[in-house]
Amino acid sequence: MKFYHGVPVTPGVAIGLVSVVANDEFVIRPRAIESTQVANELARLDSAFESTADSLERRRVEASVQLGEQYGQIFEAHALFLKDAKLRDMVDKTVSEKRLCAEYAVYQAFNHYAKLLQGLQDSKFADRANDVIDVRDQLLRELLAVTQEVAVSSDRPKILAANFITPSDASKLDPDKTMAIVTETGGLGSHTAIVTAALGIPAVLGVGPLLSELYENDLMIVDGSAGLVITNPDPETCQRYQTKIEAQEKTRRRREAMRAKVQVKTKDGVEIEIKGNIEFPYEAKKCVEDGAAGVGLYRTEFLYLTSPNNQIPDEETHFRAYKSVLETVGKTQSTVIRTFDLGADKTPGDGFFVEVKEPNPFMGLRSVRLSLRYTDMFRSQLRAILRASVYGKAKIMFPLVTTITEWRDARSIFHDVRDDLFEEGVPFDPDIPLGIMVETPATVVMLEQFAREVDFFSIGTNDLLQYTQAVDRSNEKVTSLYQQESPALLRLIRHIVSVADHYGKPTSLCGQMGSMPANVPLLLGLGLRSLSVSPGMILQTKEICEAFSMEKCREIARKAWTFETASDIRSYLRNQLREVLGDDALD
Ligand code: PEP
Ligand code: MG
Repeated sequence: MKFYHGVPVTPGVAIGLVSVVANDEFVIRPRAIESTQVANELARLDSAFESTADSLERRRVEASVQLGEQYGQIFEAHALFLKDAKLRDMVDKTVSEKRLCAEYAVYQAFNHYAKLLQGLQDSKFADRANDVIDVRDQLLRELLAVTQEVAVSSDRPKILAANFITPSDASKLDPDKTMAIVTETGGLGSHTAIVTAALGIPAVLGVGPLLSELYENDLMIVDGSAGLVITNPDPETCQRYQTKIEAQEKTRRRREAMRAKVQVKTKDGVEIEIKGNIEFPYEAKKCVEDGAAGVGLYRTEFLYLTSPNNQIPDEETHFRAYKSVLETVGKTQSTVIRTFDLGADKTPGDGFFVEVKEPNPFMGLRSVRLSLRYTDMFRSQLRAILRASVYGKAKIMFPLVTTITEWRDARSIFHDVRDDLFEEGVPFDPDIPLGIMVETPATVVMLEQFAREVDFFSIGTNDLLQYTQAVDRSNEKVTSLYQQESPALLRLIRHIVSVADHYGKPTSLCGQMGSMPANVPLLLGLGLRSLSVSPGMILQTKEICEAFSMEKCREIARKAWTFETASDIRSYLRNQLREVLGDDALD
């Protein structure tokens, strides 16, 4: 039994078998075979050696033509390992004499060879050892038929373990087959974390080196609330966690009473709106079922990230998605459609944008900056939103607006698109409100300027925290600095709320800070009356709002203001929540 601590990103406990994703290094375990399987395993080896030789030859020709003979020779040298009779003999004997599977035979023989080369003093041999590993991995990919695709590799639900998972990989996961997610790297504010929450999959990211000590089908416990991963747990530990799963189930059932309540009120009668954040159209249904006051953030960039064959979604694809969400949410509650927030960690594959790698993508061409650069894409999205607007109550929001010029440019493109549709006689909602995300300190400082022109604000604490503390939201190495309870963030939020109130501009908060139960009374105490949270947190957030009076929330905010560190604020808030709602309030 071994314990690993990581970043707790999606609550919930899972006990299950592990499926290891080979998007990093292969770890192959010996698997015994029957004598009747020997011939089949040897035939598999023949075929893997042949296909690998073919692909090396193709690469040799390509490299020679494009780069020159000397580069082609690299692949010629790789192919020599496949022809090495001694090496091949060692592989075959592991199968025929030791009766172990073909994958392990390749893994063991090639590792042995690489180690021999590494042991030689000359550094040129060490380089050759890397070549041996390279050929080994190509053979293993052939044998395992792995595409390095991030998915559970069986029909049974399992816990997925990988070195890293991108947000687009995460968005393609099947929640019915993925019991939990564990990664070696990745931080609290990453979009991977946000997607796992949307899918309702317990997740712990950034646990550090794990895969080299893990085998396919190892037993594992993932505690997404505590950020704890336990491999090969003993029976008592399993029992303890089983009890925890049952307790969580009981709490979940209790919270179902909150479903019917769309109009949420604090104990002393102050009305609060709890809305849902969605990434995929199907999540709108969950928001409605749980009685949310609409969708406060629809992250439309996931339409691009999940697009088949990496195609830029056309206007019709956008239209269908927005129509479906608006029809589901209905006309009583609003749906805030955020225009695509691509770039940084939400980067689609090749073909979307001309720019490739940026040295500092979170500071680079992302969000509304991309929209203003790729105006055709932006226009087609805006057209689709406007066309769909007759099916519900849509609002449009631009992400990461940092200057008034960006806001005005985006608004002016919107006006153009609207005028075009009008001339074409296409129906749309003429009063569709336009708002911005408040996600950078510059926007907060200049909020008055924006308040005179926009219809509404939404506070994106994930980015606002990242840019305020100068801390990469996806980097587990700096997680200790990425705490939503940052005293600096509290002060920024208070400022936003007071300016917005002064100008009468509705303001919501849609960053993950609002989806953390202990923060809810604080945010109400700071003056917010609308929060948009992960769909899985709607019921819990409503329960908290109803359990506190506004007077108590203000007292909590005043006290939190006096602490100097995020950790002190955090433990104070957790204690307050526990005192009012009991120990399970945080889960
Ligand atoms: C935020 O930054 O808080 C936000 C809601 O936007 P995203 O997480 O998609 O960047
Ligand atoms: Mg953001």
